[in-house]
Amino acid sequence: MEFAKLIAGVLIFCRNSRIFLLVEAVVAEDYYKTLGVQRGASAPDVKKAYRKLARKYHPDVNPGNPQAERRFKEIQEAYAVLSDADKRSQYDNFGRVDGIPGGGFDPFGRGRGRAGWQDAGGVRFDFGGAGGGMGDLGDLFGDILGGGRSRSRSRSRTRPQPGADQEMTVEISFADGVRGISLPLPVQRQVACTGCHGTGSQGGRICPTCRGRAEIISTEKLRVKIPEGIADGNRVRVSGKGAAGTNGGRDGDLYVSVKVGDHPHFKRDGDDIRSTIPITYPEAYSGTAIEVGTVHGPVLTKVPPGTNSGQTFRLRGKGVRNLKTRAYGDHLYTVEIVVPSGMSPAGEEAARRVAELYSKDPRAGLPTGL
Ligand SMILES: [Zn+2]
Repeated sequence: MEFAKLIAGVLIFCRNSRIFLLVEAVVAEDYYKTLGVQRGASAPDVKKAYRKLARKYHPDVNPGNPQAERRFKEIQEAYAVLSDADKRSQYDNFGRVDGIPGGGFDPFGRGRGRAGWQDAGGVRFDFGGAGGGMGDLGDLFGDILGGGRSRSRSRSRTRPQPGADQEMTVEISFADGVRGISLPLPVQRQVACTGCHGTGSQGGRICPTCRGRAEIISTEKLRVKIPEGIADGNRVRVSGKGAAGTNGGRDGDLYVSVKVGDHPHFKRDGDDIRSTIPITYPEAYSGTAIEVGTVHGPVLTKVPPGTNSGQTFRLRGKGVRNLKTRAYGDHLYTVEIVVPSGMSPAGEEAARRVAELYSKDPRAGLPTGL
């Protein structure tokens, strides 16, 4: 870690919002000076300068000369940074630091604007009230801390950042799924700290409310409208109720995943509802009017004469409302002929008379196997 040795003073910063670290601030060696090249020197020029100096101070050429040996190590170290495009860019962004003005230091180096810092991304820090603002160290500190943090995680805290989406699951009854319901939901959201208006500091000090995180977890009582017709496994998006965005970034969304319970009698089949209706043999034979319960209440309907067990009838528009089309599905009921319970001579006599009504064997023509 070339930068780890560049240390002086104390700097408190908040690393990508979650952790606080006390890190000693940093004084740089000037690698360019070490190699005797200009800051803007081209890669070949850097290499050339390195080779020349390395030859000059190489321990083989200077046996028993500790000064030359130290110089050789410095040259190697400088070259290790300046010959690596990424490291060099980091070093350039970090800037050369010769002094510690006012107990802090000039993080931007000479002639470098803050933008260079912000591009480094990732870490917001605060110069311990020494009049410094917020900046970003990002990957640089990732390196210092041995982080190996990915670039995607090290986002700038000063650019607008959208808040993360949040997810939660609610369980509702079958009826609530069919009718829809407005649910009071306590939702924990990460939002900008109210004490410091999301800056992490108050009057140059770490905000005591959020302890510098700039964000707090707030519990909000939301009313989430679960729409009529929601099915098990559907998700409801509550716009802007995820984690709060930072620096003007948009808030994340809240996704409410809905588990819908079963019903002992009604079954959901998409937008349709299915049920089974028992009828008696005389009702099936002669036809009758029956009341069929639906999710919209009872519907009086006719069982036509000669209805068979297992026949399904449709009640249009008596199902569940489609979330998109807003049209209602149907209620499909299947009749099931039930046999009177108990045995009696009168019953057997009646059954014999009924048997005479069958003009043919209902199982005639059925296959007897494969
Ligand atoms: Zn705060």
